[in-house]
Amino acid sequence: MRYKMTKKQKKMLRRIIVAASLLVVFSIIKVIFSQIPWPVFLALFLIPYLIIGYDVLKTAAVNIIHGQLLDEKFLMALASIGAFATGEFPEAVAVILFFQVGELFESIAVGRTRKSVAALMDIRPDYANLITVGEDGSEQEDTVSPDDVPVGSIIVIKPGEKIPLDGIITEGTTTVNTSALTGESLPCDMMPGDKVISGTLNLTGVCKVRTSGTYSESTVARILELVENSSDNKSNTENFITRFAHWYTPIVVISALLLAVIPPLFLGITNPGIWSTWIGRALVFLVVSCPCALVVSVPLSFFSGIGGASRYGILIKGANYLEAVSKADTVVFDKTGTLTKGSFAVDDIHPNEISQSELLDIAALAESFSSHPIAVSVIQAHHDHLDKSRVGDVKEIAGKGVCAVIDGDDYYVGNGSLMDEVGAKWHECHLTGTIIHVARKIQGTCEYLGHIIVNDEIKPESAKAIENLNRLGISRTVMLTGDKEDIAENVASKINMSEYHAKLLPRDKVERVRELKEQGARTVFVGDGINDAPVLTLADVGIAMGAMGSDAAIESADIVLMDDDPVKVAKAVRISRKTMRIVKENIIFSLAVKAVILILGAFGIAGMWLAVFGDVGVLILAILNSLRCFRISDR
Ligand code: ADP
Ligand code: MG
Repeated sequence: MRYKMTKKQKKMLRRIIVAASLLVVFSIIKVIFSQIPWPVFLALFLIPYLIIGYDVLKTAAVNIIHGQLLDEKFLMALASIGAFATGEFPEAVAVILFFQVGELFESIAVGRTRKSVAALMDIRPDYANLITVGEDGSEQEDTVSPDDVPVGSIIVIKPGEKIPLDGIITEGTTTVNTSALTGESLPCDMMPGDKVISGTLNLTGVCKVRTSGTYSESTVARILELVENSSDNKSNTENFITRFAHWYTPIVVISALLLAVIPPLFLGITNPGIWSTWIGRALVFLVVSCPCALVVSVPLSFFSGIGGASRYGILIKGANYLEAVSKADTVVFDKTGTLTKGSFAVDDIHPNEISQSELLDIAALAESFSSHPIAVSVIQAHHDHLDKSRVGDVKEIAGKGVCAVIDGDDYYVGNGSLMDEVGAKWHECHLTGTIIHVARKIQGTCEYLGHIIVNDEIKPESAKAIENLNRLGISRTVMLTGDKEDIAENVASKINMSEYHAKLLPRDKVERVRELKEQGARTVFVGDGINDAPVLTLADVGIAMGAMGSDAAIESADIVLMDDDPVKVAKAVRISRKTMRIVKENIIFSLAVKAVILILGAFGIAGMWLAVFGDVGVLILAILNSLRCFRISDR
């Protein structure tokens, strides 16, 4: 991707070129005509100095007036004025010149990263084609802002257009490219009844979509908000660097002052030569001490790590979570919807004294207000129209099932433990699968109406997800589920989980994760957000699957996987570890180089030029290194 400089950056570049050329010319003149008196040279060198440095001087002055003495602009202003005072005119110009080169470089690097994140996130739809039906029944199409489309409207999406709102296709077939959201490059086919996600790209066909929410509730709006706010969550390392700079700068200024004053006091208080030597060394000290390399490169690394992750459909809500994932040693998974597809197929219906269709009818009505994957599949298996007006007083019992009033009677639909609770005489089924029992309560006694057997498939990626985590040294992988023991054991052994716990209520899952944390594990919890939002919040890092659906997930999670692919958990770990490694490299490298130049400077071995090059060189190398966070190999 080519980067185009902004106007401001171009202006800075011109100032740098002009000032650098003048600096070279005047330096040559100074060497050749050394007999010219110094005030002439002072006047000459002040020209490039002011061209390149007026804004630095101004900011430093404004900061002094506001009592904020010790930032890097102040350091640079002080060092350059000091250099003029000791007669080192070219050096004085060079200090500011190279400082500005560093600043320009930094602003280009940040701009580039921001631009590529924005391009990846180029999902904000500009308009929607809203269909309105006139009084005479004729259809009219208007181009409106996505904000102005009411829920339940019909919109038309043409080939090549971004899908502006979430909804269901009512007419037409097409293929959709979801790569901007998921990193998945294969387009997927869509037909009437399929759900489309805002921010994805319609490729081939014209289709009509009934919107399922307003723009502010849409996937695209929520993602954009999440990405925009991610820089508010600073990592510990970033906070440390800010605090570090806060203390470090004053310490250096005081040391420089001591270095300028104390040796001459002993070596010859009246000798101007000694004074200027030590003041010169103190200035070197000041220039080298500028902490810009750290202050710039550490946040930039996190920013580009987060940007790199978003290319794979991994949305990280802040640098602090990136840091936390890199340290994780235990990954806890929810089963349904996370390791399994969460789309249950109804295998069989075993009624008790009523017909199969009556049993399915009752179950589907009772589930008609639930968004649990089991509920969704039961409703889907029921092909006829559901008359929801027959249903009242629905209660969802998380981890157990639902109860509802249908045609005036109380019904219970859920697992064995729900049946026990209401006292229905239920029995196990000889088929394997998740069993949904149905019971009716009449005059205080519960009558068992039979059960429906549903089955879920393990996601094809789940085994690889666990394998990749193991390869990264995370050997403790735990599965938590509200499902039956035999199903849990089957899934866990097929994909090689190191541990599983079955028959858990949502609050038991919270307990398990709390226990793990108490044992000192650094936990990541991966869930689909359906009744596990509390665990997502409790774990050190909550990763949500099913970003495409659940609001609760996107809100409680720290990281969102756009395509529900559990393999991305390991990828997030790899990206975070690489980012942390680069951050550490930058910290150690810049401090080490600075320490060496500081010591050399104090002994008079390193002069101002080396200090200037050292400072800017370290900054540029650190920035280039940070940008590597953006690239992660595909594995
Ligand atoms: P998981 O832990 O695998 O994500 P849940 O905690 O959501 O599963 O649910 C645990 C169990 O509770 C399910 O296996 C099912 O037997 C029962 N259950 C939960 N919600 C419903 C529902 N809406 N309808 C029927 N059964 C349900
Ligand atoms: Mg669940």
